[in-house]
Amino acid sequence: RMYKRQMICRRDIDSLNGPFLLMYQSLIPPDEEKVKQKQLLSLLERLVIKEWPQARLYLYGSCANSFGVSKSDIDVCLAIEEAHMDKSKLIMKLADILQSDNLQNVQALTHARVPIVKLMDTMTGISCDICINNLLAVVNTKLLWDYSRIDARLRQLAFIIKHWAKSRRVNETYHGTLSSYAYVLMCINFLQQRRPAILPCLQEMKTTYSVTVDDVDCAFFDQVEMLYDFGHRNKETIAQLVWGFFHYWAYCHDYTNAVISVRTGSIISKREKDWTRRIGNDRHLICIEDPFEMSHDLGRVVDKHSIKVLREEFERAADIMQFDPNPCVKLFEPY
Ligand code: ATP
Ligand code: MG
Repeated sequence: RMYKRQMICRRDIDSLNGPFLLMYQSLIPPDEEKVKQKQLLSLLERLVIKEWPQARLYLYGSCANSFGVSKSDIDVCLAIEEAHMDKSKLIMKLADILQSDNLQNVQALTHARVPIVKLMDTMTGISCDICINNLLAVVNTKLLWDYSRIDARLRQLAFIIKHWAKSRRVNETYHGTLSSYAYVLMCINFLQQRRPAILPCLQEMKTTYSVTVDDVDCAFFDQVEMLYDFGHRNKETIAQLVWGFFHYWAYCHDYTNAVISVRTGSIISKREKDWTRRIGNDRHLICIEDPFEMSHDLGRVVDKHSIKVLREEFERAADIMQFDPNPCVKLFEPY
């Protein structure tokens, strides 16, 4: 590992830019998919408002943060003030309200970690999960969206990393690997760490957007139109960044002591967060701090077994990027 840490990028790395960009473009959802998502959202809105005129629906997750690939399910959050009703009752009532001719398989999943209503729209063929009052997810969706508008390389990198993670089956939180949200935060932090930096730290800049959600203050700079040339001094290409990303997670990241922190735009120590010991199920074997819920480690799903799987996959990917004659095929080979 120590030896590989010193490795420099292969000389022909830039010949991979074309193939990576083609792959990125093939993953972008076509405009008509966006139109269908909006149609489904307005149908849901009509049904919900009839019963709860004060309620609001928000898109969140990959359909709204710009990191969604074609044919993804959509995530919807219902914001409602019904303090007297508990969550599972609300979920059941919502499922009831949404029983309609156009919606299929409307199910209330009241016992999930996050209770949701799942359904399929027959008109558009889109599946959707609806949760209740998960407004922190709506705000972190906006943060990711704002980062994605600053430098085009973030969206390219994140699409490629997500596609790799899905192909290699390391994007399955129920099997102890990382969520898409965690991978996007890893990409943002990686670009904040480049020298010159490709992304700024929006939460350390002047506050232009601020909300308090569930007692958490969420504040950051969101006038990103002013930052469109932020990364211009850094000329790294997408192929160099994919190489660098895997090289970092395979050979350079300090798994024993380091925490990835988009909130500070840096790498901070486990000690200062008191994440050095296992507490309950939180093992902190790979630490990714949530930008708003600071006590929340997105790596907490990772256990003794899956950390090995993950690190082996990072090393496999790094070695392919360094030595393989045809990395764009090998990297995404189904596991
Ligand atoms: P995919 O394309 O794989 O569906 P996604 O962006 O929708 O990707 P998910 O991991 O399904 O990602 O999460 C959906 C959204 O839920 C995220 O964008 C984020 O807003 C929120 N979220 C997911 N996991 C967490 C978490 N552990 N803590 C806080 N918010 C989370
Ligand atoms: Mg999703």
